[in-house]
Amino acid sequence: MKNNFKLLVTGAIIGTLIYTGAHAQYCTTKEAKARESKLIKFDTTKGRGLADNFFLWDVGQQIQVRFLNGTPEQQAKVMELAKQWEQYANIKFIQVFAEPSNIRVEFSDSDENYSLLGSDANQGDPTEHTMHLFSGLFNDPTRLKRTVVHEFGHALGFMHEHSSPITGINWNKDTMYKFYAKYGWDEDMVNAQVFKVYEERYTNGTKYDPKSIMHYPIPSWQTTNGFSVGWNTDISEGDKQLAALLYPASGVRATEVPRISILNYTTTKIKADKTAGGLKLYPSFNINTSGATGDVYLCVLLFDKDGNAIMATDEKYNVSGVVGAYKGFRMGPGKKISVNKQNPEEFELFIPFSNIPNTPNTSEIQVVFRTFVSDGKDLKSTFFSTPVSYQMGAR
Ligand SMILES: [Zn+2]
Repeated sequence: MKNNFKLLVTGAIIGTLIYTGAHAQYCTTKEAKARESKLIKFDTTKGRGLADNFFLWDVGQQIQVRFLNGTPEQQAKVMELAKQWEQYANIKFIQVFAEPSNIRVEFSDSDENYSLLGSDANQGDPTEHTMHLFSGLFNDPTRLKRTVVHEFGHALGFMHEHSSPITGINWNKDTMYKFYAKYGWDEDMVNAQVFKVYEERYTNGTKYDPKSIMHYPIPSWQTTNGFSVGWNTDISEGDKQLAALLYPASGVRATEVPRISILNYTTTKIKADKTAGGLKLYPSFNINTSGATGDVYLCVLLFDKDGNAIMATDEKYNVSGVVGAYKGFRMGPGKKISVNKQNPEEFELFIPFSNIPNTPNTSEIQVVFRTFVSDGKDLKSTFFSTPVSYQMGAR
């Protein structure tokens, strides 16, 4: 089941988010990308120049970092390296020893290093890590440095530089699929992690920077024209410029987009209402807004018991091609709103039974709560909940 959801996140769910009425202009936006930040889960290496503006922290923010394990010495070393960013970005990383925290670091013997992207970490379960670092890094100071600085770059919202749409890299794809297959990555994974090119807007107007700490090394055999990039261990001039652009000392970011965080999502309560002829759904969460004013879409989507999307046939109950329901709200920054907490049925979404096929696979359905935010140009997927199962029963 898990694999099916993963496929949805990487592929099938990328579709058209259908809006009606006032939002018809979005009907052709091919932007319903699931939490692509979740996919920025790897490396050890390459890097810099791009950032996801929808997952930036506030300028000047004190970002709280908690370690779930590790010795005091290891924790202090990681903090020292992370704080290199403070010279160029107007933020502070503050170590905390109890909740609340924004970033949670876990060490283990598993040789992988990854982080959630920027403020997406805020939306996680406070008992789970948002960044993983390999304990073995402490045996190699150079690797420790480049890895920690790189991962904390992701934690600030920086994306992989080699995934810039303006690199001009000519990948030797067939050879690379074979290479990564040895590490258990299939072609979809390689496409997502290596060949995926971000949207132009994420470059923030910067130039391609092969010296970036956010760039993976590229040996010449990986390209068809001999182009290569070595191990970058330091924050580059390009990285410094981007950091200053995103987190300026002036305190005011030049380009701001609407940013939302979904916090304390607990569950989506589901009630069958025979009189109304459908399911009533009540997701329970808090929403915080920052940045600019934008349109926020709160959605529920339905999957069958195996985790496959139930494809929509009725445009009115269609979210990214999947059976669902949504409500949109124009929201300004600085709001902190609690939804279905004090009053558990104040916010309701409704899907008629007629939109849910009556088949063996849909005798039990799974409900996912999802959010999108739009600045009028792009529609950004910002939250994707774990599914809640529900027995459909007789209708
Ligand atoms: Zn990375």
